[in-house]
Amino acid sequence: MKKILVLEDEVSIRSFVVINLNRAGYDVVEAGTGEEAFEQLRLNPDIKVAILDIMLPGIDGFEVCRKIRTNDPHIGIIMLTARTQEMDKVTGLMTGADDYVTKPFSPAELTARIDALFRRTSTPANIEAGEIVQGPFRLNTKNRTLEKNGTRIKLTQVEYSIVKMFMDNPGEALSREDILNRVWGRDYFGELKIADVNIRRLRIKIEDDPTNPSYITTVWGYGYKWGL
Ligand code: CA
Repeated sequence: MKKILVLEDEVSIRSFVVINLNRAGYDVVEAGTGEEAFEQLRLNPDIKVAILDIMLPGIDGFEVCRKIRTNDPHIGIIMLTARTQEMDKVTGLMTGADDYVTKPFSPAELTARIDALFRRTSTPANIEAGEIVQGPFRLNTKNRTLEKNGTRIKLTQVEYSIVKMFMDNPGEALSREDILNRVWGRDYFGELKIADVNIRRLRIKIEDDPTNPSYITTVWGYGYKWGL
């Protein structure tokens, strides 16, 4: 069964989410604070996706996200953001979240995002095994790991998928729509900005100088290009 953590301090919203996720066939573990969330993750190592509210008593959802991500690069993380807090989305993604859902949301929207994330985070059975070596980078497609000059760079599943996409298409300008389709899937109905924010985060990890990127370059008004 697919197990999900729901961290939300408002009981009415949490119950609403839990009921709908149960109905959609998920096994749901609940938490009302960040501390409870860490405890539940420790007790349930088979949790594959965490849904994190941002405004919480005690440590906030961003800090929870950062801590979870430090321990586990593979778990899927969706932030719950308020409609007015535009910056929340960017901050959430920069702290390691994979996606966000804006309140108020419909159960269908939330389950669609979760389903998409499960598809991305689950490793296909017939995964191609091997390595792609380009410049200082070595991508291991079996273990889904990246090294730069022999040093491991910790990537989320989404970041890995972006690097893989770039390495499969060196020198080719990829539009933001292309990137969304290839990494997030054609059925993803999020915003183009999610591609930009993930690439900004990736640059911080892999570029020598993230403010003057040389590997992932911007193609103005279009998208991005991988070059060495
Ligand atoms: Ca809250």
